[in-house]
Amino acid sequence: MSGRRFYRAARVANASMDAWLPDHAVGVEAGKILDIVPADQAPDGETIELGDVSLLPGLVEGHTHIPCPPRVDAFDIISQEENAPALMRAAHAVGLALRSGITTMRDLGAKNEVVFAVKDAIESGVIPGPRLLAAGAPITRTMDHCWFWGGEADSPEAVRAQAQVTVDDGADVLKVMASGGNFTPTSNPRDRQYPPETIREIVETGRTVGIDVAAHTHAAEGIRAAVEGGVRHLIHCRWLSANAEEGFRYDPELAQRIADEGIWVNPTIGLGLLASEARERGDQAPRRNPNLQGPSPREQGLEILRDMRERGVRFTSGLDMGMAYADFNRAPAEAWAFVEDVGLSEWHALRIMTCDTADAVGVGARVGRLTPGYAADIVAFAGDPAANIRDLDQPTFVLQAGKVVVG
Ligand SMILES: [Zn+2]
Repeated sequence: MSGRRFYRAARVANASMDAWLPDHAVGVEAGKILDIVPADQAPDGETIELGDVSLLPGLVEGHTHIPCPPRVDAFDIISQEENAPALMRAAHAVGLALRSGITTMRDLGAKNEVVFAVKDAIESGVIPGPRLLAAGAPITRTMDHCWFWGGEADSPEAVRAQAQVTVDDGADVLKVMASGGNFTPTSNPRDRQYPPETIREIVETGRTVGIDVAAHTHAAEGIRAAVEGGVRHLIHCRWLSANAEEGFRYDPELAQRIADEGIWVNPTIGLGLLASEARERGDQAPRRNPNLQGPSPREQGLEILRDMRERGVRFTSGLDMGMAYADFNRAPAEAWAFVEDVGLSEWHALRIMTCDTADAVGVGARVGRLTPGYAADIVAFAGDPAANIRDLDQPTFVLQAGKVVVG
């Protein structure tokens, strides 16, 4: 038959991503999922036995920086280099991500010349990589968080013009730095960068072409400005007080508004988990941002996150790949942290890693579920990640749009 194949496994995720179909097979043809059938209905000559594995939709990773090396000294490298090494590193990163089971990925910050070139190279088949959605250069104040990617803009007019440049270059989403960040030593994570009216300039520019805005913010006042400005995605969302002595300044009413308006939150807690495991191993730590004063204990941040979960806030995946310890094959760490540190069920974490983030990034009608008509993006993990979330790690088999990548 014309390339039709059935992939048989002991456990196949059902279409609603909340239970296994035991001993089933996924039929694939012309890059799409044809059908999911009990194993005894899969035709002999067309069936590939994957054995005692768990089949899931390809992972959807919501937050990467593809030119960034996941090293403690990354700032010194990427704030100074030319485009050529950045392009080569990015090409390596997307290949590694794909082999780790990520078939769709959203990049949330890189130079336009780098990330859109890599996106084109993947789409035209020059290099292997996930389906890539990209924000291009994050909009940021002069010398503030990630200024070196080319998105510096201060006034509302300059901000709107910068957003338009990135839209014209091919952005799938726009990124604004609503607060400072840890990575950039001239930036203060507790500082709000823009008032809501300035953020709204970016939101309106995106709206003209139907794309969302994602706001990086560690600061509570950055969250408020982003929500009032109309962004649809909050990245980090850490509620740091502007007053260092206070630590956090959590506002439950604003959290309720985030839930009620269906704003997606990417808490990047897998990064914290990997960093604390690195500390336990005695690995070198990244340089501390000299502007970040005062306490911000991880456990208190997790407590806030649990309250946000109870209010109904929707979460996406997103490890912040490219930051220290967050290599491009470590996406599952975010799922581990959702289960182990926030108390979500394993199936909830698996939905965040697939269909929920696919919905958030706007491709949920095509990818993120094992259901007929969807892209044949399928990954297999040994063991049962719905029983032990750490079984979600390094797949034994990866299929992208019907083509075998691993296995
Ligand atoms: Zn980031």
